[in-house]
Amino acid sequence: MIGGVGAMPGQPGALPDEALDALVAVLDEIRLGRPSSRAELVAQTGLSRSVVAQRVSELIDRGLVVEGDPRPSTGGRPPRQLSFQSHAGHLLVADLGATSIDVAATTLDGRIVGHLDEPADIAAGPDAVLERVDKLFERLQAGTRGIGGRAWAIGIGVPGPVEFSTGRPISPPIMPGWDGYPIRERFVARYGAPTWVDNDVNLLALGEWHSGIATGHDNVVVVKVGTGIGAGIISDGRLHRGAQGAAGDVGHIQVAGARSVVCRCGNVGCLEALAGGAALARDGEEAARSGRSARLAAVLDRGRAVTAEDVAIAASFGDPVALELLQDAGRRVGTMLAGIVNFFNPSLIVIGGGVAQSGDALLASIRETVYRRSLPLATRDLLIQRSSLGALAGVMGAAAMVADELFGRDGLARWVAAGVPAADMPGT
Ligand SMILES: [Zn+2]
Repeated sequence: MIGGVGAMPGQPGALPDEALDALVAVLDEIRLGRPSSRAELVAQTGLSRSVVAQRVSELIDRGLVVEGDPRPSTGGRPPRQLSFQSHAGHLLVADLGATSIDVAATTLDGRIVGHLDEPADIAAGPDAVLERVDKLFERLQAGTRGIGGRAWAIGIGVPGPVEFSTGRPISPPIMPGWDGYPIRERFVARYGAPTWVDNDVNLLALGEWHSGIATGHDNVVVVKVGTGIGAGIISDGRLHRGAQGAAGDVGHIQVAGARSVVCRCGNVGCLEALAGGAALARDGEEAARSGRSARLAAVLDRGRAVTAEDVAIAASFGDPVALELLQDAGRRVGTMLAGIVNFFNPSLIVIGGGVAQSGDALLASIRETVYRRSLPLATRDLLIQRSSLGALAGVMGAAAMVADELFGRDGLARWVAAGVPAADMPGT
């Protein structure tokens, strides 16, 4: 064992609870905040001077923290800045969409140092899609300047429900062949690195919360309006996944009094089947065929199907039918969110996803409905804003997820004594 903190009998290198708590508190300050001196860490953590000194030397011995040059001082011994050793290894992350793969290599604090993307069809199945992820990871590892050490951990985002404890997709509607597929085991076996898997919306929420518009908010709902509709929930400063990982699946809440459209989940009248991107495309196409929208009919004339993005563009040019479709979708999403606001009292709602990014009409309609339908106390300081991270949100969120798991209390407890993360650490 490196460092001098007392090992538990029979568990060489394992830290007693109290020491582990202090280690996590000190590492979090250094890792997530700005570089700090020991005195600043004492003030920020509330730990005693001697405990901070012990944990810092422990982290330095383990190669997770480095000590910089002394800062100029007004008197006494000049303080030294401590910073996170973010290049000791790297993280590999992939964000699998319905029609694309985004991969990134990041530093251990989740900063992207290499990024690649390519079109892909998730319906091609796990073997074909994950083989391409391997190829892209190989290219990143071989071709990224400044990539440090070996891959310490891997994060994968998929466009469907995931049982977080096992890293397996469960009955994902748009991912044929992926139901129950052991994504985690596959990457652990191949890379010898711990792997975590989550759905794309939770990763969007983590990305916005760590590095985007939700930074500094402890209670946030991030809604993704893409082909489908889903939400990621930050509750009391943590991602809330629920008992199995299904929390936030708001797209399948039934809309009261709606026409009976069958959803891809098999139920009737789901929000997603009425207001998601696929629904907008369907209704836009119908408006084009019936001659109600000349601008959307022009899309058909060019020989292709109408997409949700076409509807958003037509609305931004003032097409009344497209505008009505988006306003209607916004009202339905807003009504769902008003219920969430009354139940959960977030300080921020972030609207992301392809449909939300492509125009103002949807966002305006969501805002108007939420403020009208929620209770005054819940909306007094409520902000509703557009997602800020764009195309990199998924990989940034995946990196944030992996860093949280790796350097969180449970994660550190499993590997810090050994010096490097163990491949089999999640769920063990
Ligand atoms: Zn549904």
